[in-house]
Amino acid sequence: MALNCKKNLKIDKPIEHCAVFGVSCDDKTFTISRLLYLGLISQQHRGQESTGISILKTGGSIVTYKNKGLVSQVLNDSALSKLWGNVGIGHNRYATTGAQEFNSLDYIQPYHFKNNEIEFSLAFNGTIPNYAELKQSLENKGRIFVTNTDTEVVAQLIASIALGTESWPEILKTASESLDGSYSLLILTAEGDIYAIRDPLGFKPLCIGELKTEERNFYIVSSESCGIDVVGGRLIRDVEPGEIVHLSHRKELHSEMVVKSDRTALCQFEFVYFARPDSIIDGVSVAQTRLQLGINLARNDPILKDFKFRENAIVVPVPDSGRSVAVGYAQEAKLPYVEGLMKNRYVWRTFIMPGQKNREAAVKEKLNPIKTFINSKNVIILDDSIVRGTTTKKIINLIRDAGAISVNVRISCPPVIRPCYMGIDFPTTSELIAGRFKELYGNEAYIDEIRKKIGADSLRYQTIDDLISAIGKSKNQLCMACLTGEYPLKSVNKIIEMERAISSDRN
Ligand code: SF4
Repeated sequence: MALNCKKNLKIDKPIEHCAVFGVSCDDKTFTISRLLYLGLISQQHRGQESTGISILKTGGSIVTYKNKGLVSQVLNDSALSKLWGNVGIGHNRYATTGAQEFNSLDYIQPYHFKNNEIEFSLAFNGTIPNYAELKQSLENKGRIFVTNTDTEVVAQLIASIALGTESWPEILKTASESLDGSYSLLILTAEGDIYAIRDPLGFKPLCIGELKTEERNFYIVSSESCGIDVVGGRLIRDVEPGEIVHLSHRKELHSEMVVKSDRTALCQFEFVYFARPDSIIDGVSVAQTRLQLGINLARNDPILKDFKFRENAIVVPVPDSGRSVAVGYAQEAKLPYVEGLMKNRYVWRTFIMPGQKNREAAVKEKLNPIKTFINSKNVIILDDSIVRGTTTKKIINLIRDAGAISVNVRISCPPVIRPCYMGIDFPTTSELIAGRFKELYGNEAYIDEIRKKIGADSLRYQTIDDLISAIGKSKNQLCMACLTGEYPLKSVNKIIEMERAISSDRN
């Protein structure tokens, strides 16, 4: 979907949209449907609303099966037993809440395209901010759309380019030249090839692996490397930004072409929050980065110099993404790490429930403090981010009610001040507590005003420099637009200028 930052106004965590996964096996008598299931379920955290797979059936046609629900609900034994084929792709999707059109299967991926000239299936993780322009120009050429998604724009673009050439690499190269966006996408062709494409700035992760058994060989492609691990595969490498990798057992695994850019823009939030800690993205361990983020927060934290405070201090993670950070913090601070918040694993989607009252009730349903650990302690809680501030405030209240002497909040991400236009659901600037307070109170005072608003005794965020050093990449290899307001895509900057012009006209 394009420009999702305004669609889901009630979230209190940034929401990732999708995961993609694909497998190609050199044995035509073997079915890879269960491997697709495993790869998708390992990436359920990237999208929980719907899932689906496309398989090249033995005999040569693509079959797509998809529905709303979790991987385990949709791809159950009965569904998998009917899906036989040695090459396939899959997709998990997060959809914006309240999107009426989402009730249609057309909005669930993989997106299966077939006309007289071409057949393929597409699994897409990303956002194309210039999709409206592209859609208009395709409609002008007579193309008819059935959805309002950028996924269909990509599919129709590919189909329209395919009228002039039969070479898949040529088609995909031409298509990617028109797409100004953040995306990782997989194409399954009716010829049984998988193409894995990452945008030239490499916003989203995408990696390839292999699995060799005595009987057969597999190529695997996955948003996160945990998908390769779970099927017993070996991570070969990441798909490079701008690269198109062709996975086929008719040739060696190879790169069709690389569109080089003078910078990259890997989303920093993958390391802070989205990705599973056991994943490795562009050569960087997510778990190790989170550990380092915790170490950085503890270094130079003035509260740790207060010996009286330290006597009763404990370090408590907000589960789950706060865990590795809290381990790093506790290690550096030489304070006890205590699992003081119990998480109910069976409650989903706390942070995307509409309405303030619902969200507060949902936080309580999901997290419960362990009073025996918390009572009479100076609690240092570690969390990944503060978006609206409402969830953090509720967690602080829960800890206080459990008898804490003081509640001190440490956040592994720097303040989030701007929305994301690159495919992550964020509230608008005025709903982001740091965005709003920075504008209201200025650079010097806004962090303390946030502290007061959420009711913490102290509040510290990661600095941007410390975030960069924990990831171990340079500033021009990462997207940090939601922290700095500097957007790396031309089409986004154009849209922001237009929005500014409209708002100044209104004023
Ligand atoms: S603005 Fe950039 S860093 Fe922030 S969530 Fe979006 S892609 Fe990630």
